[in-house]
Amino acid sequence: MNVADLDYAAPTTLDDALDLLTRWDGRARVLAGGMSLLPALHLGTETPGAVVSLGRIDQLTHIDDEGTHLRIGARVTQRTLATDARIEARCPVLARAARGLADVQVRNRGTLGGSLANAHPGAEAATVLCAVGADVVVRGPDGERTLPVADLVLGAGRTALAPTEILTAVLVPHQPVDARAAYLRFSRIQGNYSTVNAAALVDGESVRVAIGGATPRPVVLEGPVPRDDAALAELGTRAAAACTAAYDDHMATAAYRRALAATLTRRVVLAAHEGA
Ligand SMILES: Cc1cc2nc3c(=O)[nH]c(=O)nc-3n(C[C@H](O)[C@H](O)[C@H](O)COP(=O)(O)OP(=O)(O)OC[C@H]3O[C@@H](n4cnc5c(N)ncnc54)[C@H](O)[C@@H]3O)c2cc1C
Repeated sequence: MNVADLDYAAPTTLDDALDLLTRWDGRARVLAGGMSLLPALHLGTETPGAVVSLGRIDQLTHIDDEGTHLRIGARVTQRTLATDARIEARCPVLARAARGLADVQVRNRGTLGGSLANAHPGAEAATVLCAVGADVVVRGPDGERTLPVADLVLGAGRTALAPTEILTAVLVPHQPVDARAAYLRFSRIQGNYSTVNAAALVDGESVRVAIGGATPRPVVLEGPVPRDDAALAELGTRAAAACTAAYDDHMATAAYRRALAATLTRRVVLAAHEGA
């Protein structure tokens, strides 16, 4: 596809962007950082009728502390996630995960909303946000709705977003004072998506683990904090068993992904428990 032939608009308000998407009746694509959409347009794997850029809608770059959670605008870049003091203070595991993804060029352009809407199984954001229990805010022609990140991602490249909707913000709960969280990733090549990754939030006696990359959408497990090696091994076994949709590709077999899910689950829970 010749990208220069596409209709292109860069509205300055969300309402105008939504109007354009409705007018194009689902045949337009939203452009955020362009790190995935632009290659897809050039390769012809995406063939929209038009592109609507979010690049001039400033409200999507805000980060607000709303008392119990951070409201992070969809166009906040991965570099900002990695470096912003409010994110470091309120959800340090998100900042840590962002620091380890891709490379500096991609982090400078890639956005939080773009990562979630793109729904690559090995991306960091969905895994971490499932572990900490974050929600997304979505605007469309019929108004606004909020849904858990765990319900947003339906599969590889598939989300619950309608083509006329825009993901506007992510609501990230403040990490409770006594809670601890950790994130680990396995990638064969530095700068690539993880083959499998895992995040854990240990809060009091309970733990929530999210595993990304093993299956087309994140797997989430909850339970009591394992108190000994046997309980930790049991949690790893549960993680592997939960990855029923593990898949083969050029990076790993399904069996290897399940094994990684077990190993990373054990390690990430230990890391969270030890406050790593
Ligand atoms: C070489 C390379 C390595 C990478 N490695 C990693 C990695 O290790 N870990 C990782 O997590 N990510 C990785 N990424 C992904 C990258 O960090 C971005 O998150 C991703 O490319 C999409 O973000 P974007 O803002 O560029 O979205 P775009 O490319 O602009 O858009 C991607 C898709 O999301 C849609 N979209 C974007 N924003 C919205 C919105 N607000 N509402 C509705 N739909 C929207 C677009 O229409 C499009 O379909 C990598 C990317 C590249 C190119």
